[in-house]
Amino acid sequence: MHLKSNYPISSLTTLQIGGPAKKFVVIKTEDELIEAIQYAEGDNLDFLIIGGGSNLLVSDQGVDKLIIKNGITGISTSKVGFDSFEVKVKSGTLLQDLVNYAIQYGLSGLQKMTGIPGTVGGAVYGNAGAYGQTISDHLVEVTVLNSSAVIPANAGIQLKNLLKEDCGFAYRDSGFKRNHSTIIEVAFQLENGDPKTLQQQADEVLKKRLIKYPKGIKCPGSFFKNIVAETLSKDILDKIPPENIVYDKLPAGKLLEEVGAKGDSLDGIEIASYHANLFVNKGEGSAQAFYDLAKKYTQKVYEKFGITLEPEVQLINLPQL
Ligand SMILES: Cc1cc2nc3c(=O)[nH]c(=O)nc-3n(C[C@H](O)[C@H](O)[C@H](O)COP(=O)(O)OP(=O)(O)OC[C@H]3O[C@@H](n4cnc5c(N)ncnc54)[C@H](O)[C@@H]3O)c2cc1C
Repeated sequence: MHLKSNYPISSLTTLQIGGPAKKFVVIKTEDELIEAIQYAEGDNLDFLIIGGGSNLLVSDQGVDKLIIKNGITGISTSKVGFDSFEVKVKSGTLLQDLVNYAIQYGLSGLQKMTGIPGTVGGAVYGNAGAYGQTISDHLVEVTVLNSSAVIPANAGIQLKNLLKEDCGFAYRDSGFKRNHSTIIEVAFQLENGDPKTLQQQADEVLKKRLIKYPKGIKCPGSFFKNIVAETLSKDILDKIPPENIVYDKLPAGKLLEEVGAKGDSLDGIEIASYHANLFVNKGEGSAQAFYDLAKKYTQKVYEKFGITLEPEVQLINLPQL
């Protein structure tokens, strides 16, 4: 195990922000994961498993934890019905690799998630999705590390399988955000599709995504969650033009735009002039500046609409917004 001390988390996040991790390790196998967790337990350190760091805002002070970067990868498929296949994926596999695999083998249901950075584990944790598809749509089972007990030395890996209905999936949410289980493997059931059609759908999505997220942009994706329309009161809904509701959600970007967020900036963090829910590090931005700018606009949105925006991004070692 190649443990490092005081490792800069900024090098692990797409925002390129974050202070030092007390300890850091990259793991490539389940045995290495166990070894890392046992090390953390022996040293009385909390641990945090991360994937691509594409949904993280980590404080400038860093974290007093062992950060474990998940590099456990692999995909396998078996036929489970006339037209249907089970695809098992290790959680450190890049979501894009899974999407490409599914397209190549003519398996439908993941193609519109092309272009979402990060790993399958990170996607399941946040129930990631785009263009009407989410990672939980065709998910059947998640294998997690049984984290309810301290892992005794030489105990080997203790795994638990959770059916989809036990994973607590909701819009950009899952039970994993609360139970902090470590996701090891994910099984999907996918149906046959025509590879050419799937590729065309993916290409169309990618074209749109490249406009919103040009290559090399330093951001964590959308900062705030959209608002599920059915959770809004009638008073609020009456004020919103129906064309502003997309896939049954009110885009947070619309609300932010209404309170003047587009193009605003603070100490190296800029809100995109073309999308109010896109906060970008222009080079030297800090977590504090990012947080302060986000706080300013949650307050403005609340004052104007009575709606509390929730971050989609995971705030690490930062107070709630
Ligand atoms: C340019 C850009 C575009 C984006 N577009 C989208 C989009 O269209 N839709 C969307 O939903 N998101 C989008 N995102 C956000 C992000 O890519 C997704 O949330 C992604 O699924 C996060 O995966 P990750 O591996 O990077 O997770 P990380 O950022 O590394 O971690 C996120 C959280 O997941 C937890 N986690 C990671 N792996 C595991 C595991 N194995 N077990 C338990 N917990 C784990 C971490 O502890 C952390 O709390 C975008 C981000 C960027 C930078």
